[in-house]
Amino acid sequence: MITAYFNGKFLPKDEIKISPEDRGFMFADGIYEVVRWYKGFFYDMESHLSRMKRSMKELNIVWAEEDSFPTIAGDLININGLRQKHALVYIQITRGVAPRTHDFPSPAVTPTVYAHANSFMPNTSQIINGIGVLLKKEIRWSRCDIKSLALLPNTLNFHEAVENGFQECIFIRDGLITEGSHSNIFFVIDGTLFTHPESNNILSGVTRKNILRIAREAGITVEEVAVSESMIENINEAFVTNTGDEVTPVVKMGKYVVGNGHPGPLTISIWEKFQNETDTLKG
Ligand code: PMP
Repeated sequence: MITAYFNGKFLPKDEIKISPEDRGFMFADGIYEVVRWYKGFFYDMESHLSRMKRSMKELNIVWAEEDSFPTIAGDLININGLRQKHALVYIQITRGVAPRTHDFPSPAVTPTVYAHANSFMPNTSQIINGIGVLLKKEIRWSRCDIKSLALLPNTLNFHEAVENGFQECIFIRDGLITEGSHSNIFFVIDGTLFTHPESNNILSGVTRKNILRIAREAGITVEEVAVSESMIENINEAFVTNTGDEVTPVVKMGKYVVGNGHPGPLTISIWEKFQNETDTLKG
């Protein structure tokens, strides 16, 4: 039996019932967060907690117990017997239940909070062999910095990528490569590491931030500058990052083969440095 968290209680997941008038259900009016558990600790819980709070603030959702997320996440790991495993904890907070009208309920209602934990392992074959990504014109809104539940453009485009034999979809906005449907993207061009700067056009990934730090600590030249689509043929290496899969090499972008079609040396060394960091934290 899987135990999940729902509005202050730990309950069998199958027994949780959401109101049809929940604004998350009606309008995707809410936010979410995902944090990874490494057999004994959450990686950079602090950054996930602060991004969760920022996303809520941007939508004007107030969850009075927001600081309890790390405790709830830890309890979900323990209750579900995941302490010695790799796992992901998912939390979503919606504005709450109110009769359907576009305007926010006034006075505000209590937000709906749901969280669960799942055991998880990154896709090793994708890490070893690299992935292909579909390139698509951006159809998302202009607040991609909010980790909102409204993921339809992401799911539609990711599905199209999978249907066409790719493993991620990368968006291009005004000729600039922004990020993936559920990942940030990095490029190596002539030894310099590039990624899109923080802005309203990308989600500020926790992994992105840590990879930038790790790369800088290793003396790699880093430029938080967007790479344009017209530069694709100059890209020597590429990789995507996210909380679950950490660092995944990209060896094909649309019809273009990246480098020699295999994960590049800088990508592999950054992946290794990230593994060293999580191994060291494990103690
Ligand atoms: N961009 C998007 C659109 C995402 O959904 C994700 C995954 N949450 C990321 C980037 C990567 O963020 P993180 O490294 O915090 O998982």
